[in-house]
Amino acid sequence: MSVVVPVFNESANLKSLWSRLKPVLEGLGRPWEAVFIDDGSHDDSLGILREIAAGEEGRVRVVELARNFGQHSAILAGFRQSRGEIVVTLDADLQNPPEEIPRLIAAIDEGNDVVGGWREERHDQAYRRYASRLHNRLTSLIVGVPMHDYGCMLRAYRRHIVDTVVECDEKAAFVPALANTFAKRVAEIPVGHDDRAGGKSKYNLWGLAKLSLNLITGFSLVPIQMLSMTGIGISVLAVMMAMVLVAHRLIYGPQEEGALWTLFAILFFFVGMIFLALGLIGEYAGRIYVEVRHRPTYIVRAVHGGEGQPVDSQVGPAPDRN
Ligand code: UDP
Ligand code: MG
Repeated sequence: MSVVVPVFNESANLKSLWSRLKPVLEGLGRPWEAVFIDDGSHDDSLGILREIAAGEEGRVRVVELARNFGQHSAILAGFRQSRGEIVVTLDADLQNPPEEIPRLIAAIDEGNDVVGGWREERHDQAYRRYASRLHNRLTSLIVGVPMHDYGCMLRAYRRHIVDTVVECDEKAAFVPALANTFAKRVAEIPVGHDDRAGGKSKYNLWGLAKLSLNLITGFSLVPIQMLSMTGIGISVLAVMMAMVLVAHRLIYGPQEEGALWTLFAILFFFVGMIFLALGLIGEYAGRIYVEVRHRPTYIVRAVHGGEGQPVDSQVGPAPDRN
């Protein structure tokens, strides 16, 4: 199994992290490796990581990124370097207790493709807890896999999920959500959550908002479709308004401001049409976007039966993306 840990300016935590993580890994009773990603840290995180790696005879590797690319990109870089059949991700700030890893792995062994940690009692500021509740509802809806906690990075994935996520090579990936779209069996287990051991959170409100927006636009065309729907709605209202005006005129005869209201109705109708037109253009842009995104249309895990037959190149786990 592999552990993948993204690191951005975590020099205060790395030594204590490793002193807790290593015994857990050794206690698993299976081969392990650790992949740390230095996500362009400005402090001496890289130095500390290399020191740790030097003492571990190849079981610890450090991926040095050229600059700060963000947590999820760092995890992707780590995924690509990892080799284990099971891959566990974990934050470097000790908010995720490494001691939970055996339980995640046990859940994978039970046949789950993805196992998410669920921070029942979060140690974060109140505004983050509320924002995150909303975020999880929305993500569950968009991804179609309900989970209490999409933000928890203490998670375990099976190899084929990791490979598919890496192959997508998305520019603004939200790893837990993306992984869930490829999983057949998903489980969630409650895990502990602690205060950040040292240093400061790398996310401010703006960063979190950006992440959420990425997620919404990364998974659905709903925002674009809402534009078209709004347009149709406005036009229908305008037509109804025109009918009311006509009825009014027939019943009460010409009114002083009748022409003005008629103009309003016509205006609203065309405003609606403009919305609709924008939405339609958006639909086409959206289709291009879905194609360009390069997510596999399907993933073949295995072909059963017909053993001994020559297997040609069209059958295989890697989707054809040429
Ligand atoms: N991180 C990273 N690159 C970034 C931001 C964060 O690799 O640009 C890492 C960070 O070092 C930590 C994890 O991602 O291991 C989670 O970050 P943090 O604890 O600041 O997030 P929070 O717990 O506040 O959501
Ligand atoms: Mg943290």
